[in-house]
Amino acid sequence: QLDGMLASRMKHSFHLHEKAKEVIPGGVTANIKYFAPHPIIMQKGKGSHLVDVDGNEYIDYLLCYGALILGHGHPKVIEAVIQQMANDGTTVFGTPHELEMVMAQKIIHAFPSVEMVRYTNSGLEATLLAIRLAQAFTGKTAIAKFEGHYHGGYDQVLISVNPSIAEAGDEKEPKAVPESKGIPAQYTDETIILPFNNIEATETILRKQKHRLAAVILEPVQGGFIPADATFMKQLRAITKELGIVLIFDEVKTGFRIIYGGAQTVYGIDPDLTALGKVLGGGFPIGAVGGKKEMMEQMDPRRGKDALSIETEKANKTDTLFHSGTYNGHPTILAAGLATLDVLQQEGTMTKLLQMTSMLREGLENVYHAYGIPMKTVGLGSSFNIVLTEQEVKNYRDLAKANIKLREKIDYELLSLGVYAKPGNRYSVSVAHTQEDIARTIEAHEKAIRQVTNR
Ligand code: PMP
Repeated sequence: QLDGMLASRMKHSFHLHEKAKEVIPGGVTANIKYFAPHPIIMQKGKGSHLVDVDGNEYIDYLLCYGALILGHGHPKVIEAVIQQMANDGTTVFGTPHELEMVMAQKIIHAFPSVEMVRYTNSGLEATLLAIRLAQAFTGKTAIAKFEGHYHGGYDQVLISVNPSIAEAGDEKEPKAVPESKGIPAQYTDETIILPFNNIEATETILRKQKHRLAAVILEPVQGGFIPADATFMKQLRAITKELGIVLIFDEVKTGFRIIYGGAQTVYGIDPDLTALGKVLGGGFPIGAVGGKKEMMEQMDPRRGKDALSIETEKANKTDTLFHSGTYNGHPTILAAGLATLDVLQQEGTMTKLLQMTSMLREGLENVYHAYGIPMKTVGLGSSFNIVLTEQEVKNYRDLAKANIKLREKIDYELLSLGVYAKPGNRYSVSVAHTQEDIARTIEAHEKAIRQVTNR
């Protein structure tokens, strides 16, 4: 619960949320944006900071769920967006245009496994398209995903993302638990759940299910913060290759965040398909799928047709994989994304970002340990999470054993102290975060710990 101090700082937020609730379920446009007793309504972003409708300022570690790697309103991004609209004379062509190719080249250059690219409007659509490509390629329909991994909110993958341990079954053979009302029962059969970072158990399940499995999809870094073990990753690649199962890396979160070139660059592993999003859009909605030519060319509309008669010929639906989207390859978004990637590629930018993140992680660990609170920061690259535990954190089951209640209490306290990490959420750091931000954040954690533990 919010204490009196926070409640008194949030009068406007409270009133706006009361009104919003009448016209928007829960007053939020995504369930995850809600927290009790009500979310904070923001009004302005500037660099590493957010300002709410009551004028309170926060150091932002949510960063739109990791998307804003340059922070809010980076001048190069704003300039690129305005320039694109002014120069092109339109907000969107609805036809092919040059930036689509320019960005595709940039992605191919950054991601070793990617030979061709298609765009979508979100990360969700990117994983959906990747899975369909795998199904078409293999002629199989079931997929396997890991417990605790999120790939978007549709039926096939909205399973065992955050299951109750009581329902989730044996750690080595997790049950498929739907995350929402309204998911047809067939999906808990067609989606096989695997235990992350446990290669023996994963291999056993994959061998048993290989005849049905089109793809294994995973977040190479679970939730953007629990890295796969290097040997786990290597063996998963080898097993999926041997069994003829398409390996999909969901790098929507990790793509340009861990390092430029994502988890596959860190691990030196080539997935068959990669889903991208978030940072790629420079703060605008985007997704992309990249992969090997033989798989991507399934979407080539010329497939199995005479090139000249393509428009008149009745499409043979079994030749080509359907992919569409009114706004795919949106020029304004690609301009914002390209500007973002340009800044990230500038000498020293990524190194500094990673140094800042390490500084913050180290400082936070010191504070918690000074107060005798079991805690570790778990992460890779510029995202991490605070996990209140002494145990190793390798997967969803380990996370579930941490002291989540205390973590949330501290997070609520932090809101009054000007640090915005949505209670319980992971931390993302941006290029805009300064040493002063880091120092203030560590100090705020110390105050929050003292407050919550009455010291
Ligand atoms: N995959 C991963 C790993 C994600 O983190 C997310 C978003 N949090 C998605 C897919 C879905 O992306 P979007 O919200 O853009 O649809």
